[in-house]
Amino acid sequence: MPDEKATEPHISNYAPDELVTKAMNAGRGFSGAVHVYTRDEASSKFDYFVRLFEHILSGLKWLLPIEPGSVYFAFVGGGVPFRAARVERDAFVILADPRAINYAMILTSRLQVLGPMARRFKTESVEPTKDYSGMYLLDIAKDLIFHEELVRESTEVNGITTNVFVSLLCYVVCHEYAHIAHGHLDFRLSDDFREFTATQQNRELTARALEMDADASAVTSTFALFEHLFLVDIKPRIPAELVEELTAQYRLQYLLGITLAHLYLDSLAVDHVPKYHPMTYVRFVGFQMVLLKVGESQGIDTDFVEEARKLVADTFVHLSGDVSNLHHPIAANFLVQEGEGELVGEYNELGFYSAAAQLEDEGRRWARLYPILAKFLRGGRLAPPYADPL
Ligand SMILES: [Zn+2]
Repeated sequence: MPDEKATEPHISNYAPDELVTKAMNAGRGFSGAVHVYTRDEASSKFDYFVRLFEHILSGLKWLLPIEPGSVYFAFVGGGVPFRAARVERDAFVILADPRAINYAMILTSRLQVLGPMARRFKTESVEPTKDYSGMYLLDIAKDLIFHEELVRESTEVNGITTNVFVSLLCYVVCHEYAHIAHGHLDFRLSDDFREFTATQQNRELTARALEMDADASAVTSTFALFEHLFLVDIKPRIPAELVEELTAQYRLQYLLGITLAHLYLDSLAVDHVPKYHPMTYVRFVGFQMVLLKVGESQGIDTDFVEEARKLVADTFVHLSGDVSNLHHPIAANFLVQEGEGELVGEYNELGFYSAAAQLEDEGRRWARLYPILAKFLRGGRLAPPYADPL
């Protein structure tokens, strides 16, 4: 019999058994998890996801090396879907629940074969057997996420790209990685932290400022990884006459992934008025602003940023019937009065900049945290220390 182990690609980023045991022994309060899988358990049960994580984390370590310290990932059962934990002074583990990863795959695959998205990517459209008319965006998203059987309607379709799913996951992993690289976990365990957490209000504002930094880093890392992959692996194989079209398609796909990450995290959230991180739409606006800046500085066409949002909104409108039904700011961020005093939702710049203004307090807090965090920095770059919103 051939030795199967020898043909398996090496998984070097999964947490070694002793760290898994440590994470387990530290209890639920530490990881939030009921169970932490060892590498062998995870590989035998969730092989595809293990390889995907291995890939993403290798890319991240190349992009933002951590010094000192090592970063691993491990899969968990129960607890929060994604979390970075410091297991030893210089050993970190990104804990992820494979069920949550599966939900991300379901959401991104199902949406791609619906109306507007199917048309944009020229995939076969598979309309749902269920009627979503009049439903809220988040309720539809949850329905898709938690009813895998509805997704089987579409799994036979050729041409669903994994780029959207991988980008969503990459964004989420990059966010957790930023908490490690930017020293957030070290800061939380330091004496300096106390100064910023004297009251509940202070504690929440500090947490939100750290989340804002992790988000900003996650956007730039996801962008850098996907652009690099395209340049090195994909573009050289594309015939010259298709380069423009396929570049546009590829960029739109990874931006869709980041856009959907916001809806996905919102769908998994228990509390929709979060205290410890900014509201979903404010985070989304932060993502767009960071990406517009990065795109401009690198001479990359940034129209895709808005195209991705619109494509997501249009796909949900396609299901629900009207943008006003969706009750979600990523689809309509502003209410206007029409006719007999009826309020109608629309998407405009005023709504966008009003949300951006909500990051002002976090921006001020960030300016104070910046010099302290600089001491704990293990890799990458902190978001710039200006007190204005991103
Ligand atoms: Zn976070």
